Amino acid sequence: MATVSVKDLVLNFGAVKVLRDLNLNIPTGEFLVLLGASGSGKSTLLNCIAGLLDVTDGQIFIDDKNVTWSEPKDRGIGMVFQSYALYPQMTVKGNLSFGLKNAKLPKAEIEKRIERAASVLQIEPLLDRKPSALSGGQRQRVAIGRALVRDVDVFLFDEPLSNLDAKLRADLRVEIKRLHQRLKNTMIYVTHDQVEAMTLADRIAVMSQGIILQLDTPNVIYNRPANKYVAGFIGSPE
Ligand code: ADP
Ligand code: MG
Repeated sequence: MATVSVKDLVLNFGAVKVLRDLNLNIPTGEFLVLLGASGSGKSTLLNCIAGLLDVTDGQIFIDDKNVTWSEPKDRGIGMVFQSYALYPQMTVKGNLSFGLKNAKLPKAEIEKRIERAASVLQIEPLLDRKPSALSGGQRQRVAIGRALVRDVDVFLFDEPLSNLDAKLRADLRVEIKRLHQRLKNTMIYVTHDQVEAMTLADRIAVMSQGIILQLDTPNVIYNRPANKYVAGFIGSPE
């Protein structure tokens, strides 16, 4: 379990200022949604937390450890992207165990973790299949499973459901919520979808142009939006 803190974070791509002095504190076990229009800097912020991008300035802490310059693998995080990026030549089980074998985990421990993840995500019958024999929703479950087996403290999701049709999206939303209630990990979930944000989040950070406009519970954001932009984006009543 872990807190995540971002202090005075700045990220420039050349002359383009993408994140502008951003601060964020996420307590242990919180489901935080980063909500904003395309281009607002959500993925950039997530990638900085994951260690996939070097920050221009500022610091990132996981628990009390300054991880600003730590390798992604040393941060205790698992990440799920919009595209599933499964290894096509491997079975589901192979995809789930790949990272664990590399980490030289004992075989019995690997088996135990795969069993648990498969049970939570209801993919037990699929373990021997190749990704090409799975539906989009099943593939995304396997992608979530790959983060799950790593036993991480913090999950990062970048629009994991946006490639799926509406019905599957709604189903998986419920499953992700259930997963959080069961694991109680810290989760940071990026989406541009207001409904997804409202149903999943303990708190929502509404982003625009590299800053957080408002950070609060779905209820407060909806009923007491900080400004016209937030009201319009969330669809609050006039
Ligand atoms: P979001 O995930 O909210 O859609 P991003 O974090 O992907 O937004 O992008 C934020 C801004 O940063 C956008 O204006 C985008 O064009 C710019 N950007 C993202 N990645 C790069 C990059 N590698 N080089 C230059 N600009 C980038
Ligand atoms: Mg993005």
